[in-house]
Amino acid sequence: MSEQTNIDVVVAGGGIGGLATAAALRLHGCRVTVLEQAPRLGEIGAGLQIGPNASRILYRLGMGEGLDAAALVVEESVRRRWSTGEILTKTTLGTQARHKFGAPYLHLHRADLHQILLEGATRADGPGEPVTVEIATRVVGVDDAGTARPTVRTEDGRVFPADVVIGADGINSAVRGAVDAPSAIVQSGDMAYRTLIPAEPVLQDPATRWIFDWPAANFWLGHQRHVVMYPVRDMSFVNVVAVVPVTEHVRAEDRALVPAEEMRRQYDGWDPRLTRLLACSEEQVMAWALNYQDPFSRWSSGHVALLGDACHSMLPYFSQGASQAIEDGAVVAEELAKAVRGEQFIDEALLHYSDRRAERAAVVQQGAVGNRQLFHLPDGPDQRDRDRRFRENHKESNVSFDWIYSGTPLEDDASLLTA
Ligand SMILES: Cc1cc2nc3c(=O)[nH]c(=O)nc-3n(C[C@H](O)[C@H](O)[C@H](O)COP(=O)(O)OP(=O)(O)OC[C@H]3O[C@@H](n4cnc5c(N)ncnc54)[C@H](O)[C@@H]3O)c2cc1C
Repeated sequence: MSEQTNIDVVVAGGGIGGLATAAALRLHGCRVTVLEQAPRLGEIGAGLQIGPNASRILYRLGMGEGLDAAALVVEESVRRRWSTGEILTKTTLGTQARHKFGAPYLHLHRADLHQILLEGATRADGPGEPVTVEIATRVVGVDDAGTARPTVRTEDGRVFPADVVIGADGINSAVRGAVDAPSAIVQSGDMAYRTLIPAEPVLQDPATRWIFDWPAANFWLGHQRHVVMYPVRDMSFVNVVAVVPVTEHVRAEDRALVPAEEMRRQYDGWDPRLTRLLACSEEQVMAWALNYQDPFSRWSSGHVALLGDACHSMLPYFSQGASQAIEDGAVVAEELAKAVRGEQFIDEALLHYSDRRAERAAVVQQGAVGNRQLFHLPDGPDQRDRDRRFRENHKESNVSFDWIYSGTPLEDDASLLTA
């Protein structure tokens, strides 16, 4: 093996994981087609935290200008007591994160990040060949998965042959069967209300405008519930993720539009700083059942591989699902680049990709399940012990932020660009 080969890659799913991967593959000399089921490209109206482990990759992919325009650099992440808002612990981010990890911790509107990734993948003047994106194209399966030229089948009867098929099609992946990976989904018992509160009512009320003083992520932790709030998009919205035990309605529907009053009632008696902010929300909010998979290590078979939520869906209690998907994209692209250069076979490249990524993602998945218990303790001895450890600045869980934010070692780490 030594000749430069063209490699055609079909990526199922044009979400954050699929597009980040497409942009990285393009940079590394692959010809990429993304198949997305939605009739329009975009993301849901919600915020997203992007750790330095992922932002450093996005900067390297040349997306710095877009990120600098759209993202807020987060100064700190704050844990508060549910009833009083008392600060239990703070993680300093800001310039410290930049120095330590070579990249910033960011808050973004999901639609903005999606647009940045789409541009990176498809712009005509970028490196390599622009990625082709087919919308309204639902993947239903992969044929000849064990061969060197698998084909992707779509609902409208088309077939897309490729040298490599990547399933970036989320927790209910249609590609997962082709690598024989487990399909069982775990229902966590929690759900999240998600909404973006516009700045105007928040800024008018002296009791709520504090949230815009400083770009920080605020977590209120209480029994069976927690809330995360942070400003996004040039301080024009507050993003809310409010976690509670799942209702029968949402369990059955998976996601549902519900009256905001239902969300507000769940936090009766909590810190007035929080409840006053929730009072500013629109009258309807989306509620999402929080489901995940237990870790598995079989991420590829032959010329087919999985990434993102398709192989490591997790509870959002480390705010890391999308960041881990971006890491997958960088690593699979590095490995396939060696196949492009003729230094390894494609099936080897995909195995090396999962060797480098599966164990790390599993630690984050399991850590997020651990955080569910840690965040949701009832008041009592365990909660007091947790809060004492927080105050004394012990690490929050068995998985350290330093380890997560350092990310998977990449081959060009030596030439790391600092943001
Ligand atoms: C409440 C909540 C808060 C979160 N907060 C954060 C956070 O702050 N930071 C963070 O990093 N992560 C966070 N996450 C996790 C993050 O949203 C996901 O891990 C991430 O979006 C996964 O990206 P993905 O591209 O792998 O999958 P998805 O986002 O699920 O994208 C899959 C794409 O594939 C398409 N698709 C699906 N099936 C098919 C098919 N058969 N054919 C073609 N296309 C298909 C879908 O339409 C979609 O566009 C949060 C999650 C939740 C629920």
